[in-house]
Amino acid sequence: NFLLNSPVSDAIISMKNIRSRDYFAAKVRKNKMDCLFCEIIAGNIPSNKLYEDDRVLAFYDINPQAPVHFLVIPKAHIASADAITADNAETVAYIFSLIPALAAKAGLTGGYRVITNCRPDACQSVPHLHFHVLGGAQLADRMA
Ligand code: AMP
Ligand code: ZN
Repeated sequence: NFLLNSPVSDAIISMKNIRSRDYFAAKVRKNKMDCLFCEIIAGNIPSNKLYEDDRVLAFYDINPQAPVHFLVIPKAHIASADAITADNAETVAYIFSLIPALAAKAGLTGGYRVITNCRPDACQSVPHLHFHVLGGAQLADRMA
């Protein structure tokens, strides 16, 4: 079959690859836009920002669980703590390197708690990695 091994078949295969690449890129874009925090990062949904740079956004939680409650998120979509890998751990370390200054900026002079809820048992409700920073009062002794 001349189609199996010919410049024509190569061309057909590469056209298919281009199409499927575009298809997957569109799918990734769509999924990102299905994500509430990606929408906030894109500026499509407003947020009360505490800090922003090219890799990280920190904004106040809409339903605060403490007198001060903000979220720190990577701009790159990472689904949860379960999706932290050697490839994206640098971003996570960067987030933690910012937290002391963000806590100070938010007035958390007495200390604070950092939490990430991972998947259903922990009641993760937004599937984009986020670290809750809570404080501004004496917090409960128990964590769960
Ligand atoms: P989790 O339940 O750990 O996934 O945390 C998600 C957090 O996002 C909750 O504390 C919500 O109150 C918060 N949240 C949901 N929508 C918004 C929003 N539009 N702006 C700020 N925080 C939000
Ligand atoms: Zn996202």
